[in-house]
Amino acid sequence: MQITPSGNPVVVSPRANPDGDKQNILGLDRAELKEAIAGIGVPEKQVKMRTSQVWHWVYHRGVSSFDDMLNVSKDVRAKLADHFIIKRPEIVEAQYSNDGTRKYLIRFADGNEAETVYIPEEDRGTLCISSQVGCTLNCKFCHTGTMKLVRNLTAAEIVAQMMIARDDLGEWENPTEGRRVTNIVMMGMGEPLYNFDNVKKALEIVMDEEGIQLSKRRITLSTSGVVPHMERCGKEIGVNLAVSLHAVRDDVRTDIMPINKKYGLEEVLTACANYPGAHNARRITFEYAMLKGVNDSDADARELVRLIRKYKLPAKVNLIPFNPWPGTEYECSDWDQIQRFSDIVYEGGISAPIRTPRGRDIMAACGQLKSASEKKSKAELAREAAAAAAASSDAVHHTSTGLT
Ligand code: SAH
Ligand code: SF4
Repeated sequence: MQITPSGNPVVVSPRANPDGDKQNILGLDRAELKEAIAGIGVPEKQVKMRTSQVWHWVYHRGVSSFDDMLNVSKDVRAKLADHFIIKRPEIVEAQYSNDGTRKYLIRFADGNEAETVYIPEEDRGTLCISSQVGCTLNCKFCHTGTMKLVRNLTAAEIVAQMMIARDDLGEWENPTEGRRVTNIVMMGMGEPLYNFDNVKKALEIVMDEEGIQLSKRRITLSTSGVVPHMERCGKEIGVNLAVSLHAVRDDVRTDIMPINKKYGLEEVLTACANYPGAHNARRITFEYAMLKGVNDSDADARELVRLIRKYKLPAKVNLIPFNPWPGTEYECSDWDQIQRFSDIVYEGGISAPIRTPRGRDIMAACGQLKSASEKKSKAELAREAAAAAAASSDAVHHTSTGLT
């Protein structure tokens, strides 16, 4: 994939598939990999060792060819290559923001697409991963919620987003010290808790100590409040929890987030209070998009403090200036009001930083993700790429950025 420094996409034309019926092992967990290796006639007493070796090469070193697996004997390598491939989905478009944010539009084998965003900061690099194509829910302020096409991503497709980002960032050379993706947030397209099993499996692969080795403390899963799965998330995956709150009264929350009809504020906040592993050193994050005239009054800020105290929640609040998208009915709150809101919550003893929007110039900020090519034909994309290449000397405007 070619990427132009100006942020203009380069369209890659599809190629014929030379891989036949070979099984793609990228995204298999350890047990599945072992089973696959056992199934191709590798001698039984070697299966465990070969599985560890292949696992190391695929997930720790990022190789995509069996020839590179130097400690695997030549005949086993040949057997592996006869039956398997290690193949990433295609990046159809990659855009760079002037603030360093990178957005990848990824096309899966069935032609569906999702976006992944990399956000570099001074002390960390965060990868924002999608869990669905589109989203099961339709929050009114969220661009993803307007997508018609929805399906869950498989575990392999979720893991592949991490692999692709590490490829693009050149991170495999020095997999532990040279990390550029230090954190993962499940905050891309989709509601991760409506795809629980695949998200769990993918995160287990990413956390594996002989593979990508990302600590659960560096992974945050964001939910719109799917109460029945919140406890499971803490118990079975053990990652940090972020909850999209966005309103402090049921009528307002139901209006902007239809899921609130099913799981209202009281239920969501009770589930937060019971979240396994939440304590002051590991607080729950409440995300709160600042929508002008909807949820941003002083009274809303005071009510937020009251609720967090009432449920005795070890919590911090991320105030997200609303990121606009074409056709939205909402506006971002005035800066002064966002500041006042933050001050009131801080005065209540709760941390409430205002997130700097990241990657807005490439529509990569919170709530802006939507496969831009959703309804575009390949010819249209190619025309756009040509026009973009012609205009590549144009300056891309600066935006400072902000995914949570
Ligand atoms: N579906 C999950 C994960 C998406 S996370 C969830 O809703 O929690 C993305 C975060 O950005 C969520 O908190 C979401 O509510 C918020 N968001 C959505 N649209 C936004 C917008 N236009 N501006 C700012 N934040 C937005
Ligand atoms: Fe889905 Fe989250 Fe967007 Fe709501 S905010 S539509 S749950 S991605």
